[in-house]
Amino acid sequence: MAIDLPQHIPVQYLSLSKLIKRNITIGLLRLDTIHRNVSGNKWFKLKENVKLAQENHYDTILTFGGAYSNHLSATAAAAKLLGIKAIAIVRGMEFADKLNPTLLFCKAQEMKLHFVSREEYKLKSQPEFLQTISEQYKHPYIIPEGGNNAAGVNGAELIGNYIPQDATHIVVSVGSGTTMQGILNAMTNKKDKTLQSFVLGMSPIKGGSYLKASIQTAYTHWDIIDKYHFGGFGKYNDALIDFMNAFYSKHQMPLDAIYTAKMMYGVEDLIGQNYFPEGSKIICIHTGGLQGNQSLKERLHFDSI
Ligand SMILES: *Cc1c(COP(=O)(O)O)cnc(C)c1O
Repeated sequence: MAIDLPQHIPVQYLSLSKLIKRNITIGLLRLDTIHRNVSGNKWFKLKENVKLAQENHYDTILTFGGAYSNHLSATAAAAKLLGIKAIAIVRGMEFADKLNPTLLFCKAQEMKLHFVSREEYKLKSQPEFLQTISEQYKHPYIIPEGGNNAAGVNGAELIGNYIPQDATHIVVSVGSGTTMQGILNAMTNKKDKTLQSFVLGMSPIKGGSYLKASIQTAYTHWDIIDKYHFGGFGKYNDALIDFMNAFYSKHQMPLDAIYTAKMMYGVEDLIGQNYFPEGSKIICIHTGGLQGNQSLKERLHFDSI
């Protein structure tokens, strides 16, 4: 059984009065709609990894993440659907005996949760640590945190197929940068050089634009902005929650507090500052992540999943 990518992924255009004056259109590519549990950019990044695991006859995948991780949630759901065993190395011993909604979901998908201390988790890409873990679990297929490997980038590149050809700007939220790298690759590979979309990464991490150094591209038409972090990764305040509620009542579209709400808040702010030239056709990638809203459900006026 496979989880196929859809033929078509909807783009939802926003009607905002401040756009009309300057003839700007803005649409969101709704990757959050591709699957209830394997949603957003995570399925694209996992897809090529899962394919490699299956082709090489692994029956187990092992990966890494924090306790609220969208990647762990998507991996657990995908593995269950595909009949592959899944193991997660989870950051933070304190979650072991009080599972949050994300971890409860992972467990319900039969993912094995292996909790490690924050110090031990830092070893997650060190060969010796990986060797020990690999032996302990009989040599599973290992996917790094966030699906951040070459197969992950290749999978994310497929997102390019769903982006309208006339986009002048593509905006994507940036965590590890894997998805942005895939999108940049997709744009660069286009034979028709007349397509010149500017790729803007919005980092929800304080100081997140350090990732600019690791982006690999011959393309120069891109940037990463980390101004809209709201105090840092995973942090939010009343202004962001109010923005999410208002965004939902205007557009009937749920955003997640960790990535997409910060991205859209930033985009609207940048529009106000005339960052985008007149006539821009902006496509923002709705990368999903809505499962994360479970931990702030009582503050949101909409259902996320
Ligand atoms: C993981 C995630 C991102 C970041 O993706 P990277 O490929 O790690 O940069 C963005 N948005 C959402 C909703 C995510 O879950």
